Amino acid sequence: MMKIGLNPAVIPNGQSGLVGEFGGKMDNPVLKKAMQEIEDAFHEMIQDPNFLKEFQLLHDTYTGRPSPIYHARHLSQNGAQIYFKREDLNHTGAHKINHCIGEVMLAKRMGKKKVIAETGAGQHGVAMATAAALLGLECDIYMGEVDIAKEHPNVSRMRILGANVIPVSFGAKTLKEAVDAAFTAYVEDVDSTMYAIGSVVGPAPFPEIVSYFQSIIGHEAREQFQAAYGCLPNEVVACVGGGSNAMGIFNAFLDDKNVDLVGVEPAGEGLNLHGRHAASLTLGQKGMLHGFYCYYLQEHNGEPSPVYSIASGLDYPGVGPQHCYLKDIQRARYESATDEECLNAFVRLSREEGIIPALESSHAVAYALRQAQNKGSDYRILVNLSGRGDKDIDFVIQKLGL
Ligand SMILES: *Cc1c(COP(=O)(O)O)cnc(C)c1O
Repeated sequence: MMKIGLNPAVIPNGQSGLVGEFGGKMDNPVLKKAMQEIEDAFHEMIQDPNFLKEFQLLHDTYTGRPSPIYHARHLSQNGAQIYFKREDLNHTGAHKINHCIGEVMLAKRMGKKKVIAETGAGQHGVAMATAAALLGLECDIYMGEVDIAKEHPNVSRMRILGANVIPVSFGAKTLKEAVDAAFTAYVEDVDSTMYAIGSVVGPAPFPEIVSYFQSIIGHEAREQFQAAYGCLPNEVVACVGGGSNAMGIFNAFLDDKNVDLVGVEPAGEGLNLHGRHAASLTLGQKGMLHGFYCYYLQEHNGEPSPVYSIASGLDYPGVGPQHCYLKDIQRARYESATDEECLNAFVRLSREEGIIPALESSHAVAYALRQAQNKGSDYRILVNLSGRGDKDIDFVIQKLGL
């Protein structure tokens, strides 16, 4: 039987939607009611053995779970042993499919006809479009016109999968506007649609829902690691954008006090350059962003700062409430890696192990390579390899002049 579910320490409070002081529920009465319906349906669904059976069957036969753990022998020659949890081998190439299948199953169970989502680089859009095709729901993906021009292969994938890609043409025409447009469309039709968020961010119940579905990564990994090596890793490492793949793997290790949990944020062109990184937990301050309380990079007036990363999946000014809480109670530690370190890790993993990683995941790899040098050969670092790098190959060839 599949293991899934959250450690009570990171389940938001049912009344307030808070984890510690972070997160929260919507005030707007229409949305408050809609969010409560989603939350109640979710809690009911995850108690239903028929749901769990179907969810497991789809992950076993469609996603390709369980994803293996691989010992990277070549990268482990100068210190600690490095292992990868291979979420890059999932159908559609990343961890996002884990929660997209869950969210679409929830929407379908609630009798919704359509799922609505936004996408930046198109990764969440493709995973949503895939899950909607699989389960027979309509799918509207809002995407800024600037991103549509930049991310053409993903736009084509979504269209082939039968999703409607709806161009957003106001403001900067990127992710922030796409979120606004998607949310507006959802509010206009809360009865027959469900908003499906792309990470462990936003108001309750989204952080809980997404982290629940992603928790499958950590439960698998903990069991696999123990079975293969007779112990647990010393460190579990994951990149952090909104924080879903990191929560997914951290959750199962929260009670293992000897296991260090390390989230790696994008330092971009340098932490000292305003607007040229997206290290929300490293340099952000507390406040309200997009309907939830979190650490986020902000200007003096509280407006979100411009953010940047070489990995478009990581360039969000805020971060999920569960990570903010884990930082404050010091159960997890948050580090960062620059674009340059990320590219270096991307090339090393490709050439020394034959695995082309996503640029997002390469941040976690970069930290692991750095840390491995400081440790002995009996020290074990488990990295969540959140996705594969097919989407990044043209960019890297151009950037490095290969
Ligand atoms: C979207 C994405 C991320 C960032 O999202 P999180 O919610 O922080 O996990 C990381 N890796 C890959 C491969 C992605 O597609």
